[in-house]
Amino acid sequence: MVSPTYYQFRQRVLSGEITCRTEVEAAIQRINQLAHLGAFITVCSQEALAAADRCDQNFRNGKARPLEGLILAVKDNISTRGIRTTCASRMLEHFVPVFTATVVERLISAGAIIIGKTNLDEFAMGSSNENSFFGIARNPHDPERVPGGSSGGSAIAVATRMAHVALGSDTGGSIRQPAAFCGVVGFKPTYGRISRYGLVAFASSLDQIGPIASDVADAALVAHIMSGHDRHDSTSVTLPPIAADLIPFAPGKRPRIGIVSDDVLHGCDVDVQNTYAATIARLDSAGYSTVTVHFTSMEAWIPTYYILATAEASSNLARYDGVRYGFRADNPNGDMMTATRTLGFGVEVKRRIMLGTYVLSSGYYDAYYRTAQRARRWICEDYRQIFRQCDVLLLPTTPTPAFRIGEKTTDPLAMYLNDALTVAANLAGIPAISIPAGKNSNGLPIGIQLQSPFGNDEQLLQIAYDIEQCVAGNAS
Ligand code: GLN
Repeated sequence: MVSPTYYQFRQRVLSGEITCRTEVEAAIQRINQLAHLGAFITVCSQEALAAADRCDQNFRNGKARPLEGLILAVKDNISTRGIRTTCASRMLEHFVPVFTATVVERLISAGAIIIGKTNLDEFAMGSSNENSFFGIARNPHDPERVPGGSSGGSAIAVATRMAHVALGSDTGGSIRQPAAFCGVVGFKPTYGRISRYGLVAFASSLDQIGPIASDVADAALVAHIMSGHDRHDSTSVTLPPIAADLIPFAPGKRPRIGIVSDDVLHGCDVDVQNTYAATIARLDSAGYSTVTVHFTSMEAWIPTYYILATAEASSNLARYDGVRYGFRADNPNGDMMTATRTLGFGVEVKRRIMLGTYVLSSGYYDAYYRTAQRARRWICEDYRQIFRQCDVLLLPTTPTPAFRIGEKTTDPLAMYLNDALTVAANLAGIPAISIPAGKNSNGLPIGIQLQSPFGNDEQLLQIAYDIEQCVAGNAS
């Protein structure tokens, strides 16, 4: 398996203990050994080994770039030129893009090595990685449980040390939730700070790419390289790249943490509630001040998200018609497009397209779509009043630890409720991160989530870094 973090790997290469090649070999071996977890859809062994040799040369010549030799797993809804990009859909089973996403471009230029493309819920729709055309993925802590989704494969890859860092995409929690279920760090930046150019669109006003990593420092480093304005993405903001240096706060200078009231914790299982309480206790003893904050918009989070996300998805997925690219059903006697979409999409994707088409239809537009847009504004206002009382908000990432495979597949609403604590950050466009905060008695990881005001990614990462040190004692 690969080194525990990229920073450690770099030290070990510089001291001559290992090379990029041996590290890539270890990654490939680990991927093969744990193939039953279903983390990858495509593995790029030969290309990765060739890249490793070039990285070793750069290290030898004293020309190591900021991410030299970093082994990167890329969620398979992020475009990679010459490497098939499937979105875990039959629709794109054989699709090979002709361009590379800006984020991947930037990471490769900084020295990263692509080890492969990871498994996900089809078109990133799901919370369990059970909606993949290429088969389910499994939680490394208990293979009978889900790894979370939709970036399940990316979280597994980091948790089992198949890669140093992985890329995920987060529309309503798909970076943070699998990170929490697998016991790793997952960071969703402020909307617009990381380019979406080359990310296959699910719900464009909510989608963000971000890193999944073993610790906050690695996540910050990769976010730093990926972020910054991109003229190819019209929603890209003009803020500078996210800073990578994490400076722990001096005692007495610590920001104020908002903690949520019982109505937010109400639906959470007891282990999650206990981990939340234990984290607050540690923050107290580390000298943080806390204040309890109250949301007024909570009941609107899930309905608003599932109306807007499905509306945007129905529009974004209209392009898969069998004409321009991807799968085409052979149906000489009938309607080619209907046959293509019937066979090419899985059941969850079809459910979303139908829901989205319904909420956008002329008879229901005002009742659903327009109302959801208003509710979105309300949620933004709610955050604004909360961030007048605190600098950063602490809340659980998920209501429960990883659930069993099959447990929620017949009940879409139960599945959607898993996102109760993550979707609001996407609706408001604010940054959010999940870090490991402990384990339950069955050894299942439990995550804790931090959210910050819009554009305050640096503060979020610094606090996460500090809390990571504080809660180290929680995680047994
Ligand atoms: N689980 C959520 C959904 O199914 C979020 C997905 C995501 O963030 N891509 O829509």
